[in-house]
Amino acid sequence: MNSPTTDPAPIACSLSSVELGRREQTWTTLAAAALRAKIAIPSGVRLEFVADHDVAHALLDLVQAERECCGWASWSLSQTAAAWERVGLLESPERRAGKRSYRRSVLTRIRLIDLARAAGFRLDEIRDLVTDRQPPMAPGDRWRALAAGKRAELDARAAAIGAMREVLTHLAACRCSSLDACAARTAPGGDR
Ligand SMILES: [Zn+2]
Repeated sequence: MNSPTTDPAPIACSLSSVELGRREQTWTTLAAAALRAKIAIPSGVRLEFVADHDVAHALLDLVQAERECCGWASWSLSQTAAAWERVGLLESPERRAGKRSYRRSVLTRIRLIDLARAAGFRLDEIRDLVTDRQPPMAPGDRWRALAAGKRAELDARAAAIGAMREVLTHLAACRCSSLDACAARTAPGGDR
């Protein structure tokens, strides 16, 4: 949901107080049942809900209703599950009456994807992780191959950050006579 602050239009909701109370109740109920995360973003707030067919429908209805009564706010809906489908991390669900019908196992799979993202893995690495193997591969073997590479990547980044800190330490206390002298002293192997 984005709430533009530069919009000259008055920020007002066209609902009566009774309707507003009912609307709040609907949001509260839905949030209690299915809200996974509430994240502040530069343009407003991002609410993440579980990828459930009924939840998605309730959300679509609510956002449609909000669009009708609160024209000043802009709403964008994105479906994590659909996004993961597009990049090949989730199989496309069966469709019932033209609508996606997710199995409960999708939630477990999304949690696994979240875990891998928290560990810093890229989409191609996660795809590799969740792809079925023949013969089947134990979870430990799957993680180990990925984890070794990721740790080496992190170590290299940590070393680069350490070098940056050292340069910054010099710059913050710099008493060099010229910028060239500064460059010579902060070069790798230079005398700081
Ligand atoms: Zn210097």
